Amino acid sequence: MTAMPIAPFERSHATASTDGLLPIYRRAPMELVRGSGCELFDRDGTSYLDFASGIAVNALGYNDPGIRAAMLAAMDTGLIHVSNLYHTAPGAELATALVARSFASAVFFCNSGAEANEGAFKFARRWARATGGPAKHEIIALRGGFHGRLFASLAATDRPAYRAPFRPLAGGIGIAERSLEDLDALLDAETVAAVIVEPVQGESGVRVLEPEFLRGLRTLTRQRGIALIFDEVQCGLGRTGYLFAHERYGIEPDLLTLAKPLAGGLPMGAVLLGADIAASIQPGDHATTFGGGPFVSSVALHVLERISDPELLARVREDGAWLGAQLGRMVRPGSRVRAVRGIGFMWGIDVVEPAAEVVKRALAAGLLVCSAGEHTVRLLPPLIADRQDLQRGLSILAAILA
Ligand code: PLP
Repeated sequence: MTAMPIAPFERSHATASTDGLLPIYRRAPMELVRGSGCELFDRDGTSYLDFASGIAVNALGYNDPGIRAAMLAAMDTGLIHVSNLYHTAPGAELATALVARSFASAVFFCNSGAEANEGAFKFARRWARATGGPAKHEIIALRGGFHGRLFASLAATDRPAYRAPFRPLAGGIGIAERSLEDLDALLDAETVAAVIVEPVQGESGVRVLEPEFLRGLRTLTRQRGIALIFDEVQCGLGRTGYLFAHERYGIEPDLLTLAKPLAGGLPMGAVLLGADIAASIQPGDHATTFGGGPFVSSVALHVLERISDPELLARVREDGAWLGAQLGRMVRPGSRVRAVRGIGFMWGIDVVEPAAEVVKRALAAGLLVCSAGEHTVRLLPPLIADRQDLQRGLSILAAILA
C-alpha cells in the first residue's frame, strides 16, 4: 500500500500581525527578556531605566526578593486557585489588612482596574436602589477622567476616540465638568447614585485635583446621599506618597477602587466598600471566578505590607517633591517643556512636540516613559527608585528635551 501524501495545511493570514497577537498595541520595537530593580534588559543586552513601571504596576521594581519569596511560599500550598465557592486564608487576610488601613468595612476582589470600577458602579447602584428606589441610578464621572475600557467604565471615561467606535455604551452614566458649581446643579439626590473621581487624573495628563474641589464634592455628595467613588487604580497604593491618594485631602470616599500595583504584577483589582454600601449587598449580586484567589492574594499581602511602610511613603513624598522641583526647572522661556504637574512618583511633563516623539527619543537613550495624552509625557518610576535613579532619568530627559 502506498501512503497518500498529506497536503500541507494552509490558512490565509488576514491580519497585519506578524506574531499572532492582535495588532491592537503600538509596541516599542525591542523585546524585553529580564528585569532587576529599576532596570529592564532587552534581547540584545541593552538596559533601560524604567520610569513607566509597566504603567504604574511595578511599585517594587523587578526581581524583588520579597515578591519572589511570597510566590514560592504560596506555591508550597499547591493552591493557585480554588474559586470563591470555598474559604481560603490569603484573600481574607488581605481584605482584613485593607480594612484595617482604610475607611472600608469590606472588600471585593477582582482582576483589573476596569473590573473594579464596574463592580463599584454595581455596588453603588444596588445601595442607591435600596435607599432611593430605581430612579436613583445615574453615575456621574468627570471631564478628563479615565476609568477603563469595558462598557460602563468606558461610558465614564472622557476620551471621545476610545468611545466613538463602540457606541452604544452602558446607559445612565454621564460626564460633568470639573466644577463644583456644575456639580451642584447636576447632583440630583433623586436620580444620582454615585460620582466617580480620580483624585489624581492619570491618563489625561497627571492632573492633581484641588483639595477644595474634592472636599467640596465630598460635602455635596454626603448632603445629598450620593455615593462618592474614588478611582485610585493608578494614583493609589503609595504612588502619591500616601497609601491612598485621598489621605492627603483628609476626606474618605464611600467606595474605593484599586488595582495596578496591588499584587506585584499579577492581575488583581479591589473594591473597598464603606459600611452602608457593604450592608446593602446580597449574596449573588456580583461575582468573579478568579478574584482574590490564594496565590494572587498571598503576593498582594506582601506588596501591601511593603508599600504601607511609613518610611517608604515618606521617601516617595520627599523624593517626589525633589523630582518635581528638578522637572520644574525645565520650564523656561523658549524651552520645549511647557509645564509640569504631579505629586509623589507620578509626574506629567507638557511638551511642545507630540509626546510619542519624546517617548521614542527617551527609549533610544535608555529611559522608558509613557505618554498621557497628545502632549504630555508621564513619569511613573517604581516606588523603590532612589535619588540616584531619579537623577539618572532626569539627566536623560534633560538631554533629549534640550
Ligand atoms: N482607572 C484608572 C485611573 C486607570 O489609570 C486605569 C488604567 O490605566 C484603569 C482604571 C483601568 O485599569 P485596567 O487597565 O487594569 O482595566
